[in-house]
Amino acid sequence: MENLNIPHDDSSDGIRNKRGDWKPNAKPPLTPLHLFPFRPIKFLIYLFSWNGFFLNFYHIFWIALTMVCWFFLTPPVETLKTFQLDWISFLFIRNAVIILVYISFYHYHFYVKKGQGSSYKYNSRFLDNNNPKFWFKNQTKDGVFWVFLSAVPIWTAYEAFTLWLYANKYIPWMTWESYPLIIVVMFILVPTWRSFHFYLVHRLLHWGPLYRIAHIVHHRHSNPGPWSGLAMHPIEHLLYYTCVIIHWIIPSHPMVAMWNLFHASLSPHAGHGGFDRIILKNGKWMSTGTYPHYLHHKYFECNYAGDDLNILDKIFGTYHDGTDEATKLVMERLKQKKYINS
Ligand SMILES: [Zn+2]
Ligand SMILES: [Zn+2]
Repeated sequence: MENLNIPHDDSSDGIRNKRGDWKPNAKPPLTPLHLFPFRPIKFLIYLFSWNGFFLNFYHIFWIALTMVCWFFLTPPVETLKTFQLDWISFLFIRNAVIILVYISFYHYHFYVKKGQGSSYKYNSRFLDNNNPKFWFKNQTKDGVFWVFLSAVPIWTAYEAFTLWLYANKYIPWMTWESYPLIIVVMFILVPTWRSFHFYLVHRLLHWGPLYRIAHIVHHRHSNPGPWSGLAMHPIEHLLYYTCVIIHWIIPSHPMVAMWNLFHASLSPHAGHGGFDRIILKNGKWMSTGTYPHYLHHKYFECNYAGDDLNILDKIFGTYHDGTDEATKLVMERLKQKKYINS
């Protein structure tokens, strides 16, 4: 604890225990805000305000990136009509470069440069580099391994197959000219659909056999870092990216389908970074970590949903709000499920 380097005073926003683990004072808000009890005006304001449910920096940035990729870094429709190794490889390399640059930004800042020391870090320990449970005994290398050998190939396969379906008109393609408003609404709804889909898939992954075969790979990262976000077994990636299948059924635009896949590929890394926030040069900060998901990695049987639909955990009795009482309840569940000995 004495050895912690805390260049940004985080004591007014949270507390540190004896081990040096930091937790925020504020309980995470139940979202969507103002839904229970239902306050319609506040609910609408929350849905559409800046940093509310839909509109925030991350969504705008990821949508912009999706658009750049669709307009400039995706082969023409004629090419997409037939499976060819060259254009599929191109998509693979494009996706791999995006992931490499994006995750490296967080990893370099937090864990290589240690740009903010342990300020706002949930777990006082940094990443494991001598632990046999990881590939190469190294947590970061383990993450890199699963991201490039499983996440990016499976993401690319879903993307290539979906684009091929669109190009051949095997699935309905809405045009901007005919349905501009509906396409905009679809863009807005993608993160919510993703959260709902993630919740269902995540519950399924905690079913005994699937957990032991597949999801355990992700949970080995009990103290996650940026490369942990997509550190998953191929079976989990196959399920995780089924979020795109909705576009095979509901008429949509290929750019919306790509946005769905980009959201799945880009949203986990900041949240797994292990830090509550990133402090910017001008002293301002941006939220990065999600304490509830950190608690999921720590205690397994809680907080299956992402932050923007954590109301689902509240409804189904698996919500952990960071309090000691919630920890007691989850420890009881762990004992019942024999994850730990009583
Ligand atoms: Zn996770
Ligand atoms: Zn899990």
